[in-house]
Amino acid sequence: MTLHIPFDNSYAALPDGFYTRQNPTPVAAPQLIVFNHALAAQMGMEGTDDPRLASIFAGNEVPQGAAPLAQLYAGHQFGQFNPQLGDGRAILLGETVGRDGRRRDIQLKGSGPTPYSRSGDGRAWLGPVLREYLVSEAMHALGVPTTRALAAVRTGEPVYREAALPGAVLTRVAASHIRVGTFQVFAARRDTKALRELMDHAIARHYPDADGPRGFLQAVIAAQAKLVAQWMSVGFIHGVMNTDNCAISGETIDYGPCAFMDVYNPDTVFSSIDRRGRYAYANQADIVIWNIAQLATSLVPLMPDTDEAVKGFTDDVQGMAEQIRAQWLTRFAAKIGITEAQPEDAALIGDLLTTMDENQADFTNTFRALVSGDARDQFTDPAAFELWAEGWKQRLDGEADPQAVMTSANPAYIPRNHRVEQMIEAAVAGDDAPFHRMLDILSRPYEDQPVAEDLTRPPLPAEVVPATFCG
Ligand code: AMP
Ligand code: MG
Ligand code: MG
Repeated sequence: MTLHIPFDNSYAALPDGFYTRQNPTPVAAPQLIVFNHALAAQMGMEGTDDPRLASIFAGNEVPQGAAPLAQLYAGHQFGQFNPQLGDGRAILLGETVGRDGRRRDIQLKGSGPTPYSRSGDGRAWLGPVLREYLVSEAMHALGVPTTRALAAVRTGEPVYREAALPGAVLTRVAASHIRVGTFQVFAARRDTKALRELMDHAIARHYPDADGPRGFLQAVIAAQAKLVAQWMSVGFIHGVMNTDNCAISGETIDYGPCAFMDVYNPDTVFSSIDRRGRYAYANQADIVIWNIAQLATSLVPLMPDTDEAVKGFTDDVQGMAEQIRAQWLTRFAAKIGITEAQPEDAALIGDLLTTMDENQADFTNTFRALVSGDARDQFTDPAAFELWAEGWKQRLDGEADPQAVMTSANPAYIPRNHRVEQMIEAAVAGDDAPFHRMLDILSRPYEDQPVAEDLTRPPLPAEVVPATFCG
């Protein structure tokens, strides 16, 4: 059966200045690595047994109804404003509205150069493609809002980085690819008309109840506050929280040098290009507020020119810290078995995290072991944990079912960075079995899976991956 994708392209109906029409560049020898049939079904696709899937999701055939384009955006990269970025190696094929009524973008990543490629080759290599596929699907299974992965294809062509590496194309699915940086590009050009069109499009698409620029800003703030608290609650470090990687929808986007923490240390940084630790684990809340301040600034031309309006915007941005704190408290309270968090619980959680930091405790395994009752083994000084646990046990008095609360808040399985690297090494050598196995196990992160014991093990000293790259 031939593949049918029920395209319904709304971004392509926006004015020309929002994008450049651009087809993907064909590759030599497409080979399908993985296809997400469950997601395809939700999106209303039919005929996904089509032998041409590899060719379509490598960009060699443009499917019927697609309107391929590269999106324009700007962005602050590590705090420096770049007035024009855009999809340098990605192409939006179009959108579908699924059986669930949800509109989703279908984007090829690594599909060849575009007018926004600058000096880049428009390509991706296998490593980052499999990393994004696996980690984004793991995040989804963890319950964190995220872009999804629909397909990964080997191109049969080399990509030149520090060495020749196998090329690949990822098909990413997102509620949209509208970023803070999409607003910034039109704000920087003082194109108020485009800015308004973009906001109206984004409101209709993501926040239909939002009223005007302030309501829109508030909706994005709520979504992003919740997102960053969820990242922190699973030990996730995004790694490159530039404003062009901050989605208006509130989904996690752009899995470049991202990684999950092993040992708890709030200063943890993985990205090879983040030398000053701007995007360290514990900085993520401040950074997302900074990014939202850039969105608010971009929206200023759309708001009424009154002192009251300005004050409202400022109050909303300043109030974001409190929203993040509240979300953080709810998430971390659940991680220690508390259903209704009280303000005092912040100190109890903070004490646990400090003790974990001082005792080289593994983030994921410590919280999971709170359920089984052997968390003390995670601490270099188990007595330090016991001391904390006295207060904790008192606090749990009267909680109905703390075990159940903790089991569904504390995953057993995360895509540990050393395992991801080992998986990539195997795939480069032609063995995709570790990828498929991890994908399967990480789709049920809260269930104990005895056969997957090895995936709970923190890295041995020799296995630690000190840095991750964008690729
Ligand atoms: P990122 O750090 O992944 O958010 O990418 C920042 C910008 O660089 C985006 O505009 C990308 O499209 C662009 N970019 C990254 N890698 C490449 C590449 N290999 N070729 C062309 N553009 C790229
Ligand atoms: Mg990006
Ligand atoms: Mg990237």
